[in-house]
Amino acid sequence: MAINRPKGTQDHLPDGSPKLSLDTRASAFAFVRETARRVLERAGAQFTDTPLFEEAELVQRGVGGSTDIVRKEMFTVYYFGDHGGFILRPEGTAGLVRSYLQNGLKQLPAPLKLWTHGPMFRAENVQKGRLRQFHQVDYEVLGSADALVDAEAIALMTEVVQALGVRKVKVKLGSIGDPEDREAYNAYLRELFTPHLEALSDDSKDRLGRNPMRILDSKSAQDQALIAELGVRPMLDFLGEGARTHFVQVRRHLDAWGVNYEVDPSIVRGLDYYRRTAWELHHEGVGAKSALGGGGRYDGLAQELGSKEPVPGIGWAFGIERLLLALEAEGVPLPASPGPLLYVAAMDEANVGYAATLARSVRALARAEFAYRAMKPAAAFRDAERRGARFVALIGSQEVEQDSLSLKDLQTGQQVQVPTRDLQGFLGGYLGANPLTPDAPSQPTQENL
Ligand code: AMP
Repeated sequence: MAINRPKGTQDHLPDGSPKLSLDTRASAFAFVRETARRVLERAGAQFTDTPLFEEAELVQRGVGGSTDIVRKEMFTVYYFGDHGGFILRPEGTAGLVRSYLQNGLKQLPAPLKLWTHGPMFRAENVQKGRLRQFHQVDYEVLGSADALVDAEAIALMTEVVQALGVRKVKVKLGSIGDPEDREAYNAYLRELFTPHLEALSDDSKDRLGRNPMRILDSKSAQDQALIAELGVRPMLDFLGEGARTHFVQVRRHLDAWGVNYEVDPSIVRGLDYYRRTAWELHHEGVGAKSALGGGGRYDGLAQELGSKEPVPGIGWAFGIERLLLALEAEGVPLPASPGPLLYVAAMDEANVGYAATLARSVRALARAEFAYRAMKPAAAFRDAERRGARFVALIGSQEVEQDSLSLKDLQTGQQVQVPTRDLQGFLGGYLGANPLTPDAPSQPTQENL
């Protein structure tokens, strides 16, 4: 019997695959990563990477023992003779902050801006836009509590979205205050909900003891009905002086830069180490409950992970699949992945090697492919067209002897004669239209020069 991929996972496929959708198209993922890289690295962010599996305790402490992620959605990793104390990472922040602390990154100039991307794992109920292996782009800034850092982080998120071509995005901005503000808010919530204990879901009964703010985040319809009925006051009403001033400053910077947002008092991140600014990005095409991404300040996290000193931090994450659904909903055309600039085919077996050498000599410059066996001209043109090639060179003994190539431009149908030694120079003139691939950052393309 054939073996299929696990539920809630996707294969990322090459362009032209028969079962392709935008959120399984490998080149679409590359486009999102590349766009994010360009925006974030221009703002000074450096790429870093951490393992896909970490100590379970890192996630328990770093994401929070009262969250659904830790209570219900962790994938445990076992290997021979192991105690099962590892998990597949459900998000990127905890690992990055661990890495910052473990590797002494504090010595680098602060604020330190880091970014990463990769798969994340949560054993969720699978539905559209909700997978068990999904992919994120993450941005984290460590070492500064300045409101300007918060505003820049939010602005960068909107710039990534804009650079992708997605328009209908809303930034929902809130503040969850300082720990003492949250204590006051939790006390208020406890008092408010305790007389209605029976009307709460079982999960929320539990939350009432541990962390009442998380009730507001509940996905249960029963809880949401009670919240609406009680007319719960927002966290924003409970901000102390420091958090209120910080919130005003963040908003002032965003206003000055023309970043659109709406203040949403319902944004809650109920974990102890979250501080102040919290926000989400939503898109109407992805569904009201499903955010494109979200972020927040987490000044208490480093100490939660064992740092003696506090390290202020803030970060955000986009779901790449959700971004692709948004692109699809808006009908944004993705740049087609470029075919080879040159396709070379030999017309007789004796010249197959010559054709290969010629194609390989162009690869320092651009994508070039060759036929692995001799072909008749009609078959060679057909193959070149299927691969999306721009120029085709057919090699016979005459081309070899005369050191001259007849190139056919498949876009215009024109034929040009080019001396073999001028091939690179000739093709160089077409590079702008045929950058190597969208996923080749180390190779300068016209765009990022
Ligand atoms: P979170 O860490 O829960 O704030 O998630 C950040 C972003 O990752 C969300 O806004 C989504 O875009 C994406 N995301 C989270 N969970 C999933 C999932 N199960 N499937 C797909 N995308 C997800």
